[in-house]
Amino acid sequence: MTKKNQDEKSTRKVAPSLEKVKNIIAIASGKGGVGKSTVSTNLAIALQQAGFTVGLMDADVYGPSQPTMMGAGNEQPKIADGKLIPVTRHEIRFISMGLLMQEDTPVIWRGPMASKVIQQFVGSVAWGELDYLLIDLPPGTGDIQITLAQQASLTGAIIVTTPQKIALDVAKKGLQMFENVNVPIVGIVENMSGFTCKHCGETTAIFSEGGAESMAKKFGVAFLGSIPLDPQIMVSGDSGAPLLIDAKDSAPAETYRKLAATVVKQIEDSGNKGGSEPLNMEIDGKGNLAVKWQDNTESSYTPYHLRVNCPCADCIDENSGTRTLDPKKVPLDLTIRSFEAIGRYAIAIKFSDGHDSGIFRYDFLRKMAEKDTGIKSGSFSV
Ligand code: ADP
Repeated sequence: MTKKNQDEKSTRKVAPSLEKVKNIIAIASGKGGVGKSTVSTNLAIALQQAGFTVGLMDADVYGPSQPTMMGAGNEQPKIADGKLIPVTRHEIRFISMGLLMQEDTPVIWRGPMASKVIQQFVGSVAWGELDYLLIDLPPGTGDIQITLAQQASLTGAIIVTTPQKIALDVAKKGLQMFENVNVPIVGIVENMSGFTCKHCGETTAIFSEGGAESMAKKFGVAFLGSIPLDPQIMVSGDSGAPLLIDAKDSAPAETYRKLAATVVKQIEDSGNKGGSEPLNMEIDGKGNLAVKWQDNTESSYTPYHLRVNCPCADCIDENSGTRTLDPKKVPLDLTIRSFEAIGRYAIAIKFSDGHDSGIFRYDFLRKMAEKDTGIKSGSFSV
């Protein structure tokens, strides 16, 4: 986003240290022990091996297992120019509460420390340019998760669950929490799906199976795949020798590669639908909002055109979807005073007539450019 004129430009809410990160994905679970950290590590490595630049933020304050899983030992992140420099492991930039805390730090200190450290992870880590930053969230749906979802301007969230009913019930809460704070759900992963006996080849669904897929269908989100219950996954995680490096031809390693490919496709497809954050937005010399999209196409919107299409509840009847704003009452010489990014999914625009309640989602702006916003004009014509 360019910053030519402070009055007219957006003040992005994305922390400067995350500005060069293309996709920020939270990995979440309703409860602990379902394999969220294991999925985060292996997904990070699979993405790196597929050619992406990857960062991994371990924000799981109550059980920071990433240093062990990544084999990072006691390495301390360095500080330069007031920023924490992530440790590099397996070509992944990596930061963890576990690298900053002593193993015997009492749990009672961890809560208050957590929010401060997480704010630092978002605002003061020199992540640099990344294709993907994966955030291994603490389990549950508390303040830490909500703050992080808002401060880190997440691209999306992946929910990890095991197939049994009790895990699925809490996973649903996680899913709803992200929807409440407008973070898109990339999809759901079912972990510990089934155990295949290496002697007889028979697969047993120890914790049941298929629950995550039906939950995904019910909530209209993508099912990203299932990971088997496999002792090799546990041993590699606990020994810090990741499967995708030490046993890259193994069956579970292939499962993680498939998962990574599905995640990438899912994110790219949602971008192609027009929902993704533009490459650049500015007010051009004519006072129009000029947007350059990820696919390099460009759209230009006059202030009048934006104002009469404002999707807020003052301008559109929420029940009928019909415009209640009379376009004739909008001054033709209207200007855009400023605009501001809302997370990574929309902008809020302040117009010179004082109207500032419209949130223009990026997918809505794309539809405007295609002249198909779905707004009914009712008794007014534009
Ligand atoms: P969480 O982050 O959800 O608390 P972890 O990733 O730390 O869970 O996993 C909990 C334990 O389960 C770890 O010992 C891990 O090695 C093991 N584990 C995770 N996924 C699998 C799997 N698919 N098969 C076997 N063991 C697994």
